[in-house]
Amino acid sequence: KVRVRFAPSPTGGLHLGGVRTALFNYLFARKHNGTFVLRVEDTDQNRFVEGAEEYIVNCLDWCGITPDESPTKPGNYGPYRQSERKPSYRKFAEQLISDGYAYYAFDTPEELDVKRKEVPNFQYGQATRMQMRNSLTLTISEVEDLLASQTPHVIRIKVPEDENVHFNDLIRGDVSFETAIVDDKVLLKADGMPTYHLAVVVDDKAMEITHAFRGEEWLPSAPVHILLWKYLGWESDMPQWAHLPLILKPDGHGKLSKRDGDRLGFPVYAMNWTDPKTNDVTKGFKEMGFMPEAFVNMLALLGWNDGTEQEIFTLAELEEKFSIERISKAGAKFDFEKAKWYNHEWIKQSSVDSLQLEVKHALEKAGFTVNDDALLNTVIDLIKDRCTLLPDFVMQSSYFFASPTVYDSASVKPKWTAEKAGFFYEYANNLSLDNPIDAEAAFKALAEEKGFKPGELMLPFRIMLVGGKFGPGVFDIGVLLGKEETKLRIENAIV
Ligand code: GLU
Repeated sequence: KVRVRFAPSPTGGLHLGGVRTALFNYLFARKHNGTFVLRVEDTDQNRFVEGAEEYIVNCLDWCGITPDESPTKPGNYGPYRQSERKPSYRKFAEQLISDGYAYYAFDTPEELDVKRKEVPNFQYGQATRMQMRNSLTLTISEVEDLLASQTPHVIRIKVPEDENVHFNDLIRGDVSFETAIVDDKVLLKADGMPTYHLAVVVDDKAMEITHAFRGEEWLPSAPVHILLWKYLGWESDMPQWAHLPLILKPDGHGKLSKRDGDRLGFPVYAMNWTDPKTNDVTKGFKEMGFMPEAFVNMLALLGWNDGTEQEIFTLAELEEKFSIERISKAGAKFDFEKAKWYNHEWIKQSSVDSLQLEVKHALEKAGFTVNDDALLNTVIDLIKDRCTLLPDFVMQSSYFFASPTVYDSASVKPKWTAEKAGFFYEYANNLSLDNPIDAEAAFKALAEEKGFKPGELMLPFRIMLVGGKFGPGVFDIGVLLGKEETKLRIENAIV
């Protein structure tokens, strides 16, 4: 029975890479009728950020990838926050010590600082561990005394010398590491909390996780985890690993970072994230006007495809078609223009009904009153192909709900003449607006009769009705506004 986990640390907003990891875990679980677990990895109290867990839960909900088991929806494997599982870790660290795979280290932070200054690129490990104050260098009775007097200490893994640790990654195939370059990671900290390395192994075992999808940035930690699975005697229960390709900057140079978003003006978080300490807001896709369906679709295609040219997928289709074999090893370039393309496609194919509520809210938030839902629906239908992000609906439709108050007169002025004003007075008094085709024919006929090229009058007409150079066909707009309102707008604009 497939069980996967998304295991974020609640240290801030969820960036694209984090949501994609959650999504791939989720899709794999759905595809195999498995269980998708959210486990909150909050053992590092220095990095814990208030509100981050709630934010993560809300992001997953917004994306439609709600976990089957989580801190707020516990299953049979709880608790789902590592801080609440604290008592379960120490015994495993101690078991590793008694089996010779780990040791107590009593070095104080000051001693470690001195060492780091002395030795460039100091690593606590096979080359240095015998120069330090730990249960490998102290006598048994010294260690007993230190423990009895509750001297602060950590427990470190004893990484073997000259071993080759390897495992089969579902995406990369056989991956191997020489232990010579792996340091003796802390497993249990002085405050009794496990580090991520111990906790991730103990909890994946306890929660019976079968497959673990995580970002490629965790690959260097994999040898430590593999050794722990082996040393704890659980090798046969180890999940199958799948390290997901990095999400790269738009130019393909290096990993996408939060700063790239700030610099290039696009969001890298799923939803707006407000830092509780500074109140700084990092912008999210949701608030920028992305549909969750489009966001998820875009993310799924960052490093995966179904082997055809198809790019638009519903979540249900992704659940059915997702396969590890089609995840690429190479990093996936993030392209904001492409992200917008997805949203545009999704808006185009969405039904008017499914957009209505969202558009109504957006208009009301922008200060417009929408009383006529039938009109709203007609308007949405008319303009949705022109909208890329949800706020575009406001700009593309607000003039149906209130007369323009500002006009892009600069676009009209250069060629504006008293004769043209005369044309519009006359036109306003003889409006034919039964349907767009006849309306256009009547407009052109009058223009020609008065000696104008109709083209010269269309843009002014548009600006009178909507205020600027945007919107659908101007006669579509006129017909929807109706005779009375169109006349009023022409007259208001001319004076
Ligand atoms: N807590 C880790 C993180 O913040 C989880 C890594 C893993 O999935 O093993 O991403």
